[in-house]
Amino acid sequence: MSLSFYNDLTRKKEPFVPISEGKVSFYSCGPTVYDYFHIGNARPFIVFDVLRRYMESIGYDVTFVQNFTDVDDKMINRANAEGITVAQLAERFIAEYHKDAAALGIRPATIAPRATEHIGEIIEIIRRIIDNGHAYTVPVGADNDVYFDVRSYPPYGKLSRQSLDELEAGARVDVGESKRDPLDFALWKAAKPGEPSWESPWGRGRPGWHIECSAMSSKYLGDSIDIHSGGADLIFPHHENEIAQSEAANGGEKPFVHTWLHNGFLLINKEKMSKSLGNFMTARAALEKYPPLAIRLFMLSAHYRSPINFAPEGLEQAAGGVERLRNCWSAVESAKDSAAAVGDSHPQGDSHPQDDAFLTTLAEIDRRFHEALDDDFNTAAALGAVFDAVTLINTYLRGEEKSAACLEAAEAAMRRFDDIMGVIGITDENPAESQDAEAKEIRRLIDEREEARRAKDFARADEIRDALAARGITLEDTRHGTTWKRK
Ligand code: AMP
Ligand code: ZN
Repeated sequence: MSLSFYNDLTRKKEPFVPISEGKVSFYSCGPTVYDYFHIGNARPFIVFDVLRRYMESIGYDVTFVQNFTDVDDKMINRANAEGITVAQLAERFIAEYHKDAAALGIRPATIAPRATEHIGEIIEIIRRIIDNGHAYTVPVGADNDVYFDVRSYPPYGKLSRQSLDELEAGARVDVGESKRDPLDFALWKAAKPGEPSWESPWGRGRPGWHIECSAMSSKYLGDSIDIHSGGADLIFPHHENEIAQSEAANGGEKPFVHTWLHNGFLLINKEKMSKSLGNFMTARAALEKYPPLAIRLFMLSAHYRSPINFAPEGLEQAAGGVERLRNCWSAVESAKDSAAAVGDSHPQGDSHPQDDAFLTTLAEIDRRFHEALDDDFNTAAALGAVFDAVTLINTYLRGEEKSAACLEAAEAAMRRFDDIMGVIGITDENPAESQDAEAKEIRRLIDEREEARRAKDFARADEIRDALAARGITLEDTRHGTTWKRK
């Protein structure tokens, strides 16, 4: 099976065909940096980072752009409340974003552009939209607002599947807005006292929210891109407006985005977690309560389009899952070390049906893992395959005979799973680096105990065994060497 996605634009599952062979242009809407992000916001950050990793793992050259919205009403209100500038507020929370994202194992985007650093590009795209007859200016004192003229762009509503008349009925005009039609939305807002503003052909002002993504997407990825993603709350109006802006700027010649992907909501007590409802937990607070790998495993344990309920039981279950994965990894490493110490347990010339069966089943599981991710990025099913691999590997390791080939295959499979999902903590970039350090430390103590036993210093050997037992680590002496596991 080849990679396919459920495309929110066509509402169909479609094979993924990149615009340029072997390359993927991927834009994901990033955070508004007025505060710490919450664990609901973390869902798209984790999920789409994993999608990017998966696409890279199957050979695509992915350019992943995730923006920072660093000027908007929320930014201005918070900065004013704290008596600092919007730029200072942004600087602070971009730094905090990077800390929390790194702790959660989210890789930095290829490019992480900020709206305020692209005012020139934003002005340029607005100018093109006006020239193409899809936007108009409204004087506000010495400056101007610029509005997108929604009725001038008939395909408007194609992503959220709403007609202009339906939309008109629900549209509202905010106080101080003087747009021609309630459907219209601001591309540029005339300067107001107490707000940051920039020079433009329409006087001083600042960009509306939606335009930054159109401007930065085309700057870094071109006028047509492969994938654009975000939470389902962005479908309307944000993504609908992005399509209208980008396609109006290009004279409607090229589709702005081929595949639209939206993640379902993270719920808490059956309600969407959100800042405005006050029912949120920051990612930072969640990281104090739960191990980062458990948070990742939890996020990936549902299909990205389904809702997921944030509850302690789910997180505890995920922590148990991580424990199983890590124990399996430690056992593989430990068995490999022991095998290296005693040499391959198979004498030359033997036939090893159990090895062949192991390798065949592992390959089959690996195929299922890829098939699941190919099928609209079904991380839940892919994790099912990962845990089947754990069961298979654990059973193999309990057997007497272990071959280097099987241990290497097990190790490679676990590494492959972890490179994509980041739930085992094998690579250095992963959040559980410290847990890896612990595994090395345990191995060092086991070696020291071996030394002590060889030197007939049994007191020291027992001391090491007891010290490890006190840490919840039990040792098992097999004829292939010593292995360990967590109690
Ligand atoms: P914001 O900083 O509010 O623009 O949100 C950043 C990202 O988080 C966007 O892609 C939102 O759609 C997404 N998001 C916000 N709340 C939730 C939630 N409860 N569950 C999943 N995604 C969310
Ligand atoms: Zn956006």
